[in-house]
Amino acid sequence: MNSTLEGGCACGACRYELHSTPLITHACHCTDCQRASGAPFAVNIWTEAENVVLQSGKLRSVLLEGGASGKPCEVWFCEVCGTALWSRYHVSPGDCRWVRGGTLDDPASIAPDVHIWTRSKMPFVTLPDDVPIFEQFYDLKEVWSADSLGRLRANIEAHAQ
Ligand SMILES: [Zn+2]
Ligand SMILES: [Zn+2]
Repeated sequence: MNSTLEGGCACGACRYELHSTPLITHACHCTDCQRASGAPFAVNIWTEAENVVLQSGKLRSVLLEGGASGKPCEVWFCEVCGTALWSRYHVSPGDCRWVRGGTLDDPASIAPDVHIWTRSKMPFVTLPDDVPIFEQFYDLKEVWSADSLGRLRANIEAHAQ
């Protein structure tokens, strides 16, 4: 995969680049993602914050109260058109972003590595049989590549207080 992916908001004001491959890409069927995206599930590209580079436009963010975790989720969106581009789950250590896969110029260039929170999956969505599926969340060590685990460890250490 090309290591630089580009995307942007619906009005074109905000443009961004991803300067690395994803740590992992989630298809998240949780009720928070369903509501926030207005879709049956969200495709969330999990990567280090420094790899998500805004090239133009201005973002605003809002803090949404966390669900089960009790920690908020911060969502960044285009201040003109309101398209949400990425979020940060404050429950997760390090400094990472979850980029909305549907905002890529070529959304088909990314495929979910796992489907999660499928216990709230919409009944009209059929899951693939060639990727791991989890009713809730999962143990990163059992799913992630060694490379991604190393990158996340480095990110957590770099942003430790
Ligand atoms: Zn916009
Ligand atoms: Zn979710």
